[in-house]
Parts: sequence; structure tokens; C-alpha cells
Amino acid sequence: MVGIAKPNLGLEEKEAVSKVIDSGIIACGSVVKDFENAFAGFIGASSGIATTSGTTALEVAIRAAKLGKGDKILTTPFSFIASTNSIIYTGATPVFADIDEESFNISPEQIELKMQKEPDIKALLIVHLFGNPCNMDKIMPLVKKYNLILIEDCAQSHGTSWNGKKAGSFGDVSAFSFYPTKNMTTGEGGAVLSSNPDFAQRARMLINHGMQVRYYHDIVGYNYRMTNIAAAIGLCQLNKLPAMNENRIKNARYYNEKINNPLIKLPKHNEGHVYHQYTIQIENGKRDAFTKYLEEHKIGYGVFYPLSIPEQKCYENMKFEIKYPVTDSVKNKVVSIPVHPLLTQPELDEVVNVINKFKA
Ligand SMILES: *Cc1c(COP(=O)(O)O)cnc(C)c1O
Repeated sequence: MVGIAKPNLGLEEKEAVSKVIDSGIIACGSVVKDFENAFAGFIGASSGIATTSGTTALEVAIRAAKLGKGDKILTTPFSFIASTNSIIYTGATPVFADIDEESFNISPEQIELKMQKEPDIKALLIVHLFGNPCNMDKIMPLVKKYNLILIEDCAQSHGTSWNGKKAGSFGDVSAFSFYPTKNMTTGEGGAVLSSNPDFAQRARMLINHGMQVRYYHDIVGYNYRMTNIAAAIGLCQLNKLPAMNENRIKNARYYNEKINNPLIKLPKHNEGHVYHQYTIQIENGKRDAFTKYLEEHKIGYGVFYPLSIPEQKCYENMKFEIKYPVTDSVKNKVVSIPVHPLLTQPELDEVVNVINKFKA
């Protein structure tokens, strides 16, 4: 079986966790502080606030930017549900713009159309999906033109860059996830990054019951604090991240070179892509036959995502517009295949051979 994801944890992490346990300070302490500083420094933001998950990081990011009830936030219909759920938790209203066919990311042209139709939209929440950067040369001028607050969902884009600048350093505020299947992990965990001191301070308060001074609660917050145990793992993972991403890119390039089945459309290599997923497209109607074939040949895969966000059952009562032609076409064709950094050469070759032999 070639698995779709495999966390890369070893002796380094075990020793770091042991050290925290021996220290007796296992909840939020100096190791979390070190991890926050190291991670924010790596991405290129002034402040980092570690949280319990990518989902809580997103919620805090939105609230740190003072968005909530009555505010419309424009986002992508093609992502993990947390991108939109986090908007809903804050009381804000999600609005969607369709994606670009090539990158699977929110389309700058569709953002512009939506802004012309609904100029009261206050913020833009982008997702660098599968580790592929959004086109920031097109998005930043729109952010400026329409005076939008920019939030980046970087749950799949640790180390992704656009023109050498890292995802998570463009927005007013950004959110990362350290779930085990992501490019780096802390077990569960997340981080909010911001270079806006006001937003960073608010995020810091929100994750810790609205406190700055102990037992003086200025705003209603949460307990979304990361533990020292998780942060210790995070520091090790951050050290390994550049090499792990290089392996992902190398694996993706190998597939691009070797997979040559005419039924399959490969992702175009994009500078700055870190291949959280390597996502191919199988012509409409043959996707389910293909995934069944992968199962028979013991190749792990994922369908990210089979439904658009606005059409999910949980949003039935929200009366979202549910027609997004590009998303609706792509969601029926996508399959993500193993690209994780621990794949061996025989495994890569097995994936290539199996896929090249697929017949409709
Ligand atoms: C994983 C993910 C999240 C949520 O992160 P969790 O740590 O699982 O809460 C949010 N957005 C996207 C795009 C994700 O892939």
C-alpha cells in the first residue's frame, strides 16, 4: 500500500517531547514562544500566535481583524470546509467567487466581478490550495483597489511562495494548520501570523480568554493555546520543512515527467508550489472508475474535494449561490495521489506504472 500521507516524525521529535515532559512545564510556556517566533520568522511576519488547530487559527485571524456580524467576506468555494466555517463562527457572511481552472485557486477575475456587484464586501479570505500560491500579482492590486482586509488560509501552504515571498506574509493576517497530514505537524495545532501589531495583540488575547493581565478579561476569548509538547514537535518539524518540501517538489516533478496517460491531466508546475497535494484530473465521468482502480492496486488517494463548499448539506439553510461552473467541473475530475516526502523510489515508480496502465 502506498499511502496518501505519512507524518515524518523521528528521534528528534521524541527527544524534544521527552525534554518538555522532564521540564514539568507541559502546557503553554517558553517552548510555545520559541516556536511562534521561529515560525513567524520563517514565513516573514512580525508576530506569531500558536493555537490548537488550523480551524481555531482561522477563526481567531478573522476576529483579530475585527470582522464579524454584518461583514461580508469573499472566499473560494473550493477548499476544506474550515475556510468557510471559520467565517460563519465569527458571525460574518461568506460570499464566494469561482476558481481558476489551472491553479484551483480563487480567480482574480472572479474576485473583481464580485466586487463590482457587491462593493460592500469587506475582506478577502484566500486559500493557497494544495500548496500552490494564489496569483498575488493580480490579487494584491485588487485588495488595494477595493480596500479589502486580506486573510490567508495557509493550512496547505507552509513554505509556499510567490516571487520569493512566502504565503502567509501577504495578508493582514494569516492562519496555518499543523494537522498530521499537512506539510509539517504538531499533532493538532495551528498558528495565526500578522505584521499588524493591533491584530497580533487581539489574536494573542483571543486565544487566552481575552487576558493581557492575568484574570483581567478585556474581551470574551477562548482557550485555544498550544501546548509546549506540541510546540516542541513543531520546532523539529520546522527545521525539517525545507527538506520535506524539496522532496515533495522532486516527487511532483518526477510524476510530471513520467506520467503519460492521455486520460489524465497533470498539474502545471508553478514556481513556489510546495505540493501539499499533487492533484491530477481524470476526464469527466471516469474519475470513479479511476479511484476504484487505484484501490485495487493499493495506491492511496484523496478526492479533495467532491463537493463545493456552498453546496454542502450543513449550509442548506444559508441560501448560498451554489453554481460555480469551474468548481463544479473540477470537483468531478480531481484525484490527489501520494506525493509526501517519505515516498521511496520504488513507490514512486509503482504509482507511475499503475497510473500509466489505467484504461477507461
Ligand atoms: C486542514 C485545513 C484547515 C483546518 O485545519 P485543522 O488544523 O484541521 O483545523 C483549514 N483550511 C484548509 C484549507 C485546510 O486544508
